[in-house]
Amino acid sequence: MDFTRSERVEDAVATIREFLAEEVAPLEPEMAGGSFRSMLPKLQALREEVKSMGLWLPQISAEHGGAGFSFLEFAHISEELGRSPLGHYLFNCQAPDAGNMEILIDHGTDEQKERFLGPLLAGEIRSCFSMTEPGAPGSNPTWLETTAVRDGDEFVIDGRKWFTSSADGAAFAIVMAVTSPDADNKYARASQIIVPTDTPGFELVRNIPVMGEPGDDYASHAEVVYDGVRVPASNILGAEGAGFAIAQERLGPGRIHHCMRWIGISERALDLMCRRAAKREVAPGKPLGTRQIVQAWIAESRAEIDAARLMVMHAAWTIDREGTYAARSEISTIKFYVAGVLQRVLDRAIQVHGALGMTDDTPLAYWYRHERAARIYDGPDEVHKIVVARRILRDYGIEVKR
Ligand SMILES: Cc1cc2nc3c(=O)[nH]c(=O)nc-3n(C[C@H](O)[C@H](O)[C@H](O)COP(=O)(O)OP(=O)(O)OC[C@H]3O[C@@H](n4cnc5c(N)ncnc54)[C@H](O)[C@@H]3O)c2cc1C
Repeated sequence: MDFTRSERVEDAVATIREFLAEEVAPLEPEMAGGSFRSMLPKLQALREEVKSMGLWLPQISAEHGGAGFSFLEFAHISEELGRSPLGHYLFNCQAPDAGNMEILIDHGTDEQKERFLGPLLAGEIRSCFSMTEPGAPGSNPTWLETTAVRDGDEFVIDGRKWFTSSADGAAFAIVMAVTSPDADNKYARASQIIVPTDTPGFELVRNIPVMGEPGDDYASHAEVVYDGVRVPASNILGAEGAGFAIAQERLGPGRIHHCMRWIGISERALDLMCRRAAKREVAPGKPLGTRQIVQAWIAESRAEIDAARLMVMHAAWTIDREGTYAARSEISTIKFYVAGVLQRVLDRAIQVHGALGMTDDTPLAYWYRHERAARIYDGPDEVHKIVVARRILRDYGIEVKR
């Protein structure tokens, strides 16, 4: 395995680091508890700057107007962008849009690409992914209550979703709904359907406050009702019943992106921890960094972040060589492991900052609130641990059913 960074990636990483530190960091305190919508004019200006830097859409091929980094190369870029809560958004590689772009590129019809993908790539619109429901366990994606019933040339969608991130202000949702409830194969019952959010019957009930933050616009997590929503049957993505398979395809690379972003956050947290440990004196002439317990936190964080990065790179390398399906155990391993590293490093960094760590004067408290969810979204820890253990135990002759 060779994870050497090309000169182009090194240059991009250096450019991004400077841009985030100089131009984006001053905006970060506004993210905490504030309105994302009110920041849009400033963010739009920064997005234009990113376009002129040639780094817009770093995860997308040049053919589709992106910067054309490979999957592994983007892992490095994603880590760097993760050092700011605004990084991915400014470069138009943020969840859930990035995943939706991938789905549209791989499965969209020409008409869908023209109407939905083009404006998404250009940053003119945003989108959301609407799968999880309050009435069914999100950790079991084969169990959905939302239905899409074929009526002539249309689908009629009924159901209730929640935690549809970024739905507030999105132009369209990709909705997972059951289209073939009687299919023997439970993985072939649901489809993904594009629903423009101005379709009658699409009702955004509320932006759900999460960890004390109301959240709006891109930073929203919405509850959405689909009440007799009618869309053309041509809005389906891929084949009928392919919803689960496409979701898995989307989630594999998506988890790598999340993990690299978390590593970026962890690096920034460790950097802040060390700066504080070097500066803050707990007795005259005795900075915190002279205390062995703080040294242990720093060393443990360094080791865990380095291990996490290598594990993620290995998973990305496996996906590149053998595809997402072959890498599913590696993907599950990093999903729970890196989320845990992130949580531990953030916690230590806050502890070293004392009361300052509880304020929004650093991004640590923001991340502590927001990234607790890392152990839940895109599959809770427990589900990923089951996938890994099941795979290992198979070699010992035990078949573990979910
Ligand atoms: C901030 C945030 C953003 C999100 N964004 C989106 C989005 O954009 N679109 C979307 O569709 N969804 C989104 N989600 C939803 C997310 O994917 C689900 O929360 C997740 O899949 C878990 O589903 P659930 O909440 O229904 O938990 P449940 O399925 O009810 O599970 C609850 C808990 O039970 C445990 N558990 C579950 N299964 C097992 C098992 N087999 N064995 C042992 N323990 C188990 C786990 O600890 C789990 O946390 C988001 C969630 C959050 C928190």
